[in-house]
Amino acid sequence: MSLEGLCKRCTDFLSPTELRPEEILAPYTTFKVGGPADLLVCPTGEHGVANCLKVLEIARQEGIETTILGGGSNVLVSDSGVRGLVLVTTGCNGIRIAASPQTPYSARVDSPTYLSVDCGASIDQVARYCEDNGLSGFEFIAGMPGTVGGAVWMNARCYGRSISDLLVETRLLDENGHQTVQAFAANEFDYKQSPFQLQKSLILSVLFELTHGQQEAVRTAGDANRQDREQKGHYRQASAGSTFKNNHLWGKPTGRIIDELGLRGLTLGGAMVAPWHGNILVNTGAATAAEIRALVEDVQKRVYEALDIMLEPEILFIGDWS
Ligand SMILES: Cc1cc2nc3c(=O)[nH]c(=O)nc-3n(C[C@H](O)[C@H](O)[C@H](O)COP(=O)(O)OP(=O)(O)OC[C@H]3O[C@@H](n4cnc5c(N)ncnc54)[C@H](O)[C@@H]3O)c2cc1C
Repeated sequence: MSLEGLCKRCTDFLSPTELRPEEILAPYTTFKVGGPADLLVCPTGEHGVANCLKVLEIARQEGIETTILGGGSNVLVSDSGVRGLVLVTTGCNGIRIAASPQTPYSARVDSPTYLSVDCGASIDQVARYCEDNGLSGFEFIAGMPGTVGGAVWMNARCYGRSISDLLVETRLLDENGHQTVQAFAANEFDYKQSPFQLQKSLILSVLFELTHGQQEAVRTAGDANRQDREQKGHYRQASAGSTFKNNHLWGKPTGRIIDELGLRGLTLGGAMVAPWHGNILVNTGAATAAEIRALVEDVQKRVYEALDIMLEPEILFIGDWS
C-alpha cells in the first residue's frame, strides 16, 4: 500500500489536523531545522494513544517505515526530511495518579505514589503536575525540554540522576504489534542508554514511582533547576542541549574539553558552538541541518587532532542524509 492508502485508512479515525502529508519537520524540533516528512501523524486527545496504535498497526501491516518523534529535543533532522511515516506523540499527554504497578517490583520507599504518564506528556508538564499535587521525585528534571517517552528512551540525565531511577514499568507496542507491560532492572540502564534503544518499540506510557512531598518544597526545588538551566543559557538559542556525550575517562566534562581548545563561538554558516557553553551547538537563526552536522564533525575533528579523543554525538541524526 502507498502512503496515500495509509492516509485514506487513517481518515476514519484521525482529523485532518492530525494527518499532515509533506509536513516540514523544523517546527517539531528544538533545533528548528529539518525538511518534510512524507506523512506526519500527530494523534491528540482522549483517544490519542489508541489512535497511535491503529496508525502503527496499519503501517506495520503495509511495511511503511516509521519514525517516532517526541519533543524533537535530542534530534537533528536532515534537510531532505524523513521518508515514510513520522508519528509525533506530543498530543498523547495524559497524566494520572495510579494505584500500583501491574508487575512485581522491590518495595523500597515509604508510602510511594505511582504516576502513570502517556508518552507524549512533556517533562515539565509532569514536573508541574507533581508540584501541584505534592509529589516528590521529579524535581531534578524540571525544565528539561522533551517528552516522557523521549526521556525514557534516551535515559535522560541531569544533576547526577537519571529518569530510570524513577521508572517502575513501561507499556510498549513492540515491532510485531503486541502490547506488553515491562519492568526493567536498574542495570539494564546506563549513562544515556536504555533497553529501548535495542528494540523497535513505541513507549506508550510509563509508570513512575514517587513519594509524597510538601507542595511548596517540591515547587521551590523545581524552580531552582529551571532557573539554573536559564542561567546556563539552555533556552537562549535553538539547540538540542548537549551535543556530545560525556566520558568519565577523559577526566573532565566534554564542554570543558571544547572550551579549553578555544572552540566556543566557532561558526559554520548559521551553526555555532555556543559562546557561553562548549557542548551546546546552536542554530543562530537560519542554519541548515547540513551546516549543524558539518559543525559537529568539525568539532570532532579538531578535538581528535588536538587530544586523540573522538567525541561521540549525543544528538541523533534522523532522516535522509544520503
Ligand atoms: C535546552 C535543552 C536542554 C537539555 N538538557 C538535557 C539534560 O539535562 N539531560 C538530558 O539527558 N537531555 C537533555 N536534553 C536533550 C533532550 O531534552 C532529552 O534527551 C529528551 O529526553 C528528549 O526527549 P524528546 O521527547 O524530545 O525526544 P526526541 O528528540 O523526540 O526523540 C529522541 C529519541 O527518542 C525516541 N522516542 C521519542 N519518544 C518515543 C516513544 N514514545 N517511544 C519510543 N521512542 C521514542 C525517538 O525516536 C528518538 O530516537 C536537552 C535538550 C535541550 C534542547
